[in-house]
Amino acid sequence: MGYSPFKVGDVVTNEVMRSAFRIGNMGGMCKSNTYNCLVLISDHTKGLYDDKWYGTELHYTGMGQEGDQTLNGNQNGTLYNSRTSGIEVHLFEVIDKGEYTYRGVVKLTGKPYQEIQPDKNKNPRKVWMFPITPITGAPEYSKEKLDEVHVKLEAQAEKMTLSELETIAKARSSKEPSIKVVTAKQRDRDEFVAVYTKKRAKGICQLCGQPAPFRDKLGNPYLESHHIVWLSNGGEDTIKNSVALCPNCHKKMHVVNDPNDVAKLKTLNSTL
Ligand SMILES: [Zn+2]
Ligand SMILES: [Zn+2]
Repeated sequence: MGYSPFKVGDVVTNEVMRSAFRIGNMGGMCKSNTYNCLVLISDHTKGLYDDKWYGTELHYTGMGQEGDQTLNGNQNGTLYNSRTSGIEVHLFEVIDKGEYTYRGVVKLTGKPYQEIQPDKNKNPRKVWMFPITPITGAPEYSKEKLDEVHVKLEAQAEKMTLSELETIAKARSSKEPSIKVVTAKQRDRDEFVAVYTKKRAKGICQLCGQPAPFRDKLGNPYLESHHIVWLSNGGEDTIKNSVALCPNCHKKMHVVNDPNDVAKLKTLNSTL
């Protein structure tokens, strides 16, 4: 094992990372001449560069922001040849701006291939993809962090024109969805509270007052139970804080959570 200044999972700043490896500020792939190793940065906060995890393998996008990427005269070639040259390759991932998480040493575990991705001017071009695997295994992500990334990327996408979006969406379309290992803290809701709430409603949505829009496979009117004050906001998992809603109204409560609707549902349950 060669040079390893951090423990896998350590989170450092860009500056600490660069000074530890003695590398300049040169984007996603840097060669450390001091330690004769290659440092890869996979920045998930930059929407256009599409590195994807497939189980334990990260398909890492090569360097070059404009036009077709090449293997000559840059670090793409260094990574391409890493299996034969034996140069050690280190990986950092950025999930939150400015936070570089050290993933340790990675190996090229698949044959590099080319695919179409947008360049910095949003034009489609050929990039090199490198299937790499951390020797300590795939990282786990917190669900909260991933949700934040999704919200940021959606906000970036919302600002684009339809034709810009079309170019990018076509280039980023993939037949095989990316798979990440995710850990989540889950608040457990009680099944009996939920089922009682739905039966109590007798097939009528408590917000819009309309009958359930369809029946489930058992023939019961389909409603969903919802917490008026969300569990994530400290709400109680009680029958008083639970209502039965049609799928439309349920979605509306989660997207809008209109105070008037909240007040209406609280009043309905006030006698419980
Ligand atoms: Zn409804
Ligand atoms: Zn809900």
